[in-house]
Amino acid sequence: MTGAVFSRAAGRDLPVVAGGRGTELFDTSGRRYLDAAGGAIVVGIGHGSAEVADAIATQAREVAYVHGSAFKSTALEGYAEMLGPLLPVDDPYIYPVSGGSEAVETALKLARAYHLARGEDRSVVIGRTGAYHGNTRGALSVSGRDGLRAPYLPWLGTAAHTTSPYEYRCPFPDSHPYGCGARHAQALEQEIVAQGPHNVAAFIAEPIAGAALGACVPPDDYWPAMTAVCRRYGVLVIADEVMTGFGRTGRWFGCDHWGVRPDLLVAAKGAASGYWPLGLAVTSGEVHDTVQRAGFVHGFTYSHHAVGAAAGLAVLKILSRDGLVDASARRGEQLGAELRAELADHPHVGDIRGRGLLWAVELVADRETKVPFARNERMAERIAAAAKDRGVLLYHSTGCANGSEGDLLVFGPPLVISPAEVTEVVTGTAAAIREVSRVRPSGGR
Ligand code: PMP
Repeated sequence: MTGAVFSRAAGRDLPVVAGGRGTELFDTSGRRYLDAAGGAIVVGIGHGSAEVADAIATQAREVAYVHGSAFKSTALEGYAEMLGPLLPVDDPYIYPVSGGSEAVETALKLARAYHLARGEDRSVVIGRTGAYHGNTRGALSVSGRDGLRAPYLPWLGTAAHTTSPYEYRCPFPDSHPYGCGARHAQALEQEIVAQGPHNVAAFIAEPIAGAALGACVPPDDYWPAMTAVCRRYGVLVIADEVMTGFGRTGRWFGCDHWGVRPDLLVAAKGAASGYWPLGLAVTSGEVHDTVQRAGFVHGFTYSHHAVGAAAGLAVLKILSRDGLVDASARRGEQLGAELRAELADHPHVGDIRGRGLLWAVELVADRETKVPFARNERMAERIAAAAKDRGVLLYHSTGCANGSEGDLLVFGPPLVISPAEVTEVVTGTAAAIREVSRVRPSGGR
C-alpha cells in the first residue's frame, strides 16, 4: 500500500490547489476562488508574495536551522527589534514557536513559572465559555468548547471558566446597553474567589473573540473592568491574539482598541501570514526577568527558527509599508456596512458583528427567540459549500452562546482585499444564504 494523506475533510473530495495571488486562489482545473477567509483567518498580506518567498529562501540558503540554545540569529534579533514597539506589552520579550497552540502552551507554562519563581504555587488558569485556544491538551483545558473537549476530558488539566462577552446572547441582559462589563468582571472575581485566589495563575481571553464565538466585540467597559480584577488578585492576563493580531481587527493588536497591556500575549496566524508556521509567546519584561531568574524549563526543537523569523520580518515590513492595518479598518467598515445592508432583514440572520476584517454572521432558525438551527441541519457548512460553488471561500464555525452549538459564517479575508472584492464576498454569501435557507431538510423557512 502506498502512503496516503490523513485527510481533514473525511468523505469529501477536495479540489487541488494550484496557486494563489492576493485574495485569489486557483485550483488545477483553473477555477478561481475569492478567499474571504484567508484560509483559517491566517493570510493577512495576501497569497503569492515573492517578497516573503525570497526572504524565506535567502535565510534557508544562508542557514536554515541552528538550535536556539547554541546560537542567536540576525533574523530573529531583527524581528524582535521591529516587532517590539508594535506590541501592547511592556518591555516585551518574544519566544517564537511553530503555531498558536504551542504559543498558548508556552504562555500557560510561563504564567505558572512566574508564580513559582515568586514562591507561589498557582496552577489554575481561567478561560471563558465558548472560547477556543488550541487543540493541544493545555490549550484545550482553557478552551470552553464542550464539543472539542468532551473526548479528551480525562486528560484536561486544572482550568476554570467564566462568562464570555457575547452581546447577542448576553448572560446579563438586564445590564444592557451599559454596565455589562462590570457584571462580567464580577463573575470573574467570583470564580477567582471560588478557586482560591492563591491558586489562580492567569486569565486567558481573546481581546475580540475570533472564530469560536464569531467576532464578538466586547463592550467598552469590559477590558478595563476585567484587568482591574486580575491585578487585584495578582492574576496574570494572557491575551490570545492568535487570530486578532497583526492588523486583523484594524489595529496592530486587538488589545489596542482598549489600551489593554497584558502580562503575556500569544499570536500566530497573521504573524507570518501562512508562509511559515510561526507562533509567538510574548512576555512583559517583568514576567521575563522573574522567570529567567529561576530558569524556564521549556523548549521545542523548532522554536526560535531563523527561517520563521525571516518570514515574520518580511510580513511585518509589508504590513507596515503598505499600510495594511489601516486598510483592514477601512475595508472592514465597508464589509460590515454591506453585510448589514444585504442581510440584516433576512429571516435567518440573527446577528452581524465584527471589527476590522474579522466579521461573523450568526444564523438562527428563529429571529424572535434566537433559537439556533438543529445542528444536524449543518446550515453553516452547507452555506459555506454553496458559497464555495459560487467561488467565495468562507470560514464556518459551530460556536454559539455559552458552550452550546450554532451556525456562524466567519469572514477574515487578506487585508489587501479591494472594495470591489468586498462587494463580491457579500453578494456571493447572501446568494448562498438565500439558496440554502430556501431548501432546508426540515422544510421550514
Ligand atoms: N487561539 C486562537 C484564538 C485561535 O483562533 C487558534 C486557531 N484557530 C489557536 C489559538 C490555535 O492555533 P493553532 O491552530 O495554530 O495551533
